[in-house]
Amino acid sequence: MAKRREVSACAFCGAPDGVTDDHLPPRGCFPAPVPADRITVPCCERCRLEWGSKDDEHFRNVLHCAEWLENDPRSQAVRDVIGRSFQRPEGARYAEGFVAAMEDVFTPDGNAEEKVAVPLDDRVSRVVERIARGIYWRELRRPVPRTHIVERAQLDQYRKNVEKVLGRIGQYARGVVRAWNGQFQYVFIAEPTVGEAFFTCCFFGRAWALAFIRRRRT
Ligand SMILES: [Zn+2]
Repeated sequence: MAKRREVSACAFCGAPDGVTDDHLPPRGCFPAPVPADRITVPCCERCRLEWGSKDDEHFRNVLHCAEWLENDPRSQAVRDVIGRSFQRPEGARYAEGFVAAMEDVFTPDGNAEEKVAVPLDDRVSRVVERIARGIYWRELRRPVPRTHIVERAQLDQYRKNVEKVLGRIGQYARGVVRAWNGQFQYVFIAEPTVGEAFFTCCFFGRAWALAFIRRRRT
């Protein structure tokens, strides 16, 4: 059996220097304290700057200000933190835009639900992409190759039966991986030779995100 090598290079770019542990998904998505079964990946300083903590905050806000998490006390704890950030002077302008952007939610069948949410944007996609890249490293012990792209990184606002669907998909992988006190679950399916993969996850058993990692078409 091969001995597991100690990995100290960045999970995102492979750089060997200045690497520290980065929480994945962003720690702010979950209430404090950070549980023992959190996920961390090594991240270099340059990637940390590139992926930006402002996007992390925005992602957290979009995730938790969806009405279907309203009755979840764990989500309430995060919403309290968000509420305080909105009240800070430097957060006021962002908060105004955030609330103004809320719109009706539709199911995939096109039916309006009696709910509102903030529409998904590039910043949300970037965080989903970062999570997908980090999990790719966690599962395959190498960064997403430069020849590959992370495609359709998105957060799905349709939340019915998410855990059931995740369980079904998990049959084709090594099952569903649970972390962060069960507040985060994911399935990762990879074709290790070409390095293409499918990643999907859910937060608090409701909102879910997915991404495809595939070789760039030439
Ligand atoms: Zn890096």
